[in-house]
Amino acid sequence: MTPNTPDIRRALNEATQRLSDRVDAEVLLAYALSKPRSWLIAHATDLLSPDHAAAYAVLIEQREAGEPVAYITGRRGFWSLDLEVTPATLIPRPETELLVELALERLPIQQACQALDLGTGSGAIALAIAHERPMTQLVATDASIDALTVAQHNARRHHIGNIHFIHGDWFAPLDDRRFDLIVSNPPYIATGDLHLQQGDLRFEPMSALVSGNDGLDDIRRIVRDAGLHLVPGGWLLFEHGWRQGDAARALLRDAGFVELSTARDLEQRDRVSMGRWPVSGGCDSPQS
Ligand code: GLN
Repeated sequence: MTPNTPDIRRALNEATQRLSDRVDAEVLLAYALSKPRSWLIAHATDLLSPDHAAAYAVLIEQREAGEPVAYITGRRGFWSLDLEVTPATLIPRPETELLVELALERLPIQQACQALDLGTGSGAIALAIAHERPMTQLVATDASIDALTVAQHNARRHHIGNIHFIHGDWFAPLDDRRFDLIVSNPPYIATGDLHLQQGDLRFEPMSALVSGNDGLDDIRRIVRDAGLHLVPGGWLLFEHGWRQGDAARALLRDAGFVELSTARDLEQRDRVSMGRWPVSGGCDSPQS
């Protein structure tokens, strides 16, 4: 070991400076060492082996070039689950946990509900719901075979068996099947939005991000067809951009949905809109 081999503290400090982000520096070093992040603190004065130091240097370079941490490590935590992610899938975001919370409020724990996740990507939403509601049977669709492969892998890793994965575009593969609840985090960014040139978005699949000139093309399709796939009293909930709340509720109203609302994320921005397909008798209405 040469005297210049850095210890863990020094390696972290140097990487933090280069990346301007302590958490990224820690996550990448933990990944290079195959240890949990907490391990780093207790071993701050351990020396890095030359192999580990070299591996860490490569990861720092990837990150400096803008590659998302989740794609470098192939992992991202969502809800209580550690998920595999690849460039075929969107990286699950913390604000999408709001969609999961609102869906769970509408799926009674003791009832065998039927739920649908449209455009499941890594499977994040469907897996979180399936994990919390073992009696609910889910269908999760995606137009990307590569994304579905990742989602199915995540389901197997977490021993989640109550999701049926189906390949196809939105409702296309579902015939006339109806559900108690439909959730989706569809693409909702406008073509040409400057955010697409920034941060993680540069590396994520365009098909999971962009949806026409106003970002609402896919939401329009989902809202238009959802009534054909909901039981009376069933719920549609979907994520959208923070300036799309009014438009989302207008679309829901025009399509015949009732009990419309928009929920705000932790930054107090409109993030999820929802509505109910009319006529009582849905999964969470009182049983007669
Ligand atoms: N929430 C993502 C972002 O704005 C976009 C995800 C999406 O289009 N569904 O960074």
